[in-house]
Amino acid sequence: MLAQIEEVPEWDIIIIGGGATGLGAAVDAASRGYKTLLAEQVDFSKGTSSRSTKLVHGGVRYLAQGNFKMVSEALRERGLLLKNAPHVCHNLSFIIPSLHWWQKWYYGIGLTIYEVLSGKLSLGKTRLLSKKTTRQLIPAISSKNLSGGVLYQDGQFDDSRLAINLAQTAEEQGATVINYCKLTALTKTGKRITGVVLQDMLTGKTLTINCKSVINATGIFTDQVMQQDNPDHKPIVTPSQGVHIVVDARFFPGKQAMMIPKTDDGRVLFAVPWHDKVVLGTTDTPVNDISLEPRPLPVEIDFILQHINRYLTTDIRPGDVKSVFAGLRPLIKVKGKKMTSILPRDHTTIVSDSGLVTITGGKWTTYRTMGKHAVDNAAFSAKLKMYPCKTESLLIHGYTAGVATEDPLYIYGSDAAAINQLMIDQPSLKEKIHPALPYSKVAIIWGVQHEMAMTVEDVLARRTRALLLDAKAAIEAAPLVASIMAGLMNKTEDWESKQVKEFEAIAQGYLLP
Ligand SMILES: Cc1cc2nc3c(=O)[nH]c(=O)nc-3n(C[C@H](O)[C@H](O)[C@H](O)COP(=O)(O)OP(=O)(O)OC[C@H]3O[C@@H](n4cnc5c(N)ncnc54)[C@H](O)[C@@H]3O)c2cc1C
Repeated sequence: MLAQIEEVPEWDIIIIGGGATGLGAAVDAASRGYKTLLAEQVDFSKGTSSRSTKLVHGGVRYLAQGNFKMVSEALRERGLLLKNAPHVCHNLSFIIPSLHWWQKWYYGIGLTIYEVLSGKLSLGKTRLLSKKTTRQLIPAISSKNLSGGVLYQDGQFDDSRLAINLAQTAEEQGATVINYCKLTALTKTGKRITGVVLQDMLTGKTLTINCKSVINATGIFTDQVMQQDNPDHKPIVTPSQGVHIVVDARFFPGKQAMMIPKTDDGRVLFAVPWHDKVVLGTTDTPVNDISLEPRPLPVEIDFILQHINRYLTTDIRPGDVKSVFAGLRPLIKVKGKKMTSILPRDHTTIVSDSGLVTITGGKWTTYRTMGKHAVDNAAFSAKLKMYPCKTESLLIHGYTAGVATEDPLYIYGSDAAAINQLMIDQPSLKEKIHPALPYSKVAIIWGVQHEMAMTVEDVLARRTRALLLDAKAAIEAAPLVASIMAGLMNKTEDWESKQVKEFEAIAQGYLLP
């Protein structure tokens, strides 16, 4: 990829940021035929895009706020994602428990509208449930005050796996996508941006590159790039922190997810089965500092545990938590509104006088339309030849029809066959990296050789989800992962021990004190 960067004299579109938005733009631009380069300063989806609630959804909450346009668009995108990437996105049943008889009807009507809005891409019917059926479907639910429930369908996914697959799709469509490469400056001819300066974060090398247009898809770092373009730029992004707790599935057995429809701060809270664990969250806390490793606040952990425990027969205690992770929403500021939970979730596109196209806000679910809007604007502003968008029916890397989720390698989709072959050729690759983690050594080999994993953290946090599933086990697995990677990548023992230390420092933040 680095060699390709130096070969091209002028790129049509350079995208800064390798999260959902930037990767969506890279797939879009490359599939239209533009010479496309994407640069990510750390790893694909290192930012917010690996820290979501893992839902591909329209957003039931936004329906209650009356934002029908946004919900309809997201429901359409949900349907397309489940069609184009069925190995990483699937249908999941959600239950809203009702504590008063009228709630069942109230939420039932709302969720029927939700289903109708998804039109032909509906995932299935909304049903009202009796108290008995609700208890059968959610065995952990407390019967105290329970009057029944509403069952509806939505989507679930693995965010960083989808991000990696999008990077692969972009590359297959002709894009150059590179991680560990940071934008350090924008270069201009007159007032217009005509290039970028990138720094290879692994070697320190600086690359000066020409281009016709630049898309700023840097999430919570949006304002930093806009300030590089215009030092007088006034910030447009308000970061809002969301925290998730991960616990063993025994606290919430069954296949269904649960949605608590109204928390004390008027939001919703989910309990979602994910891989072999359950994800609980999230919060919405305004924060001042932006960081690639935001830290959960004790009050956020208390908030999640308190709310979830109101609904369960057995209390979940801090000691039961396997991992806790936080992400920052890049929300657009609205004059006079300080509470982040009421700020709009729609995305915003801004074309600056210099031609810089900034796209931010939105949701993972709508990454495709965000990518399309960014590329439409970049092509128009740079007067590129206009080509139509092709991503609506573009299959995402790994696509396979008839996904068998009981196969431990199902998440790799069509790559599973080649991974299986590696294990046939070298049976030791079947060995698990840790007794408490669902991953074998082969995932490390595959991550390094085919998925651009460069560090132990890339493997344990985003190629596999070990860090999010069980932080302690991930820390214990790190020396083995480092040693296999060092062998593959021809690295020294120093590199190995530095990698383990760096991973441990990050992973400590995923453990509760
Ligand atoms: C707690 C939480 C839960 C959520 N749950 C859901 C959900 O269930 N479903 C859903 O649809 N959406 C969800 N979202 C929203 C969704 O995750 C975000 O909208 C989306 O991930 C934002 O993607 P992004 O690409 O804009 O930003 P990011 O993922 O943050 O990507 C920006 C990237 O830019 C890179 N970057 C920054 N500066 C530079 C530079 N100078 N050079 C190179 N690279 C740079 C960063 O390293 C980063 O990787 C959730 C968000 C949060 C916070």
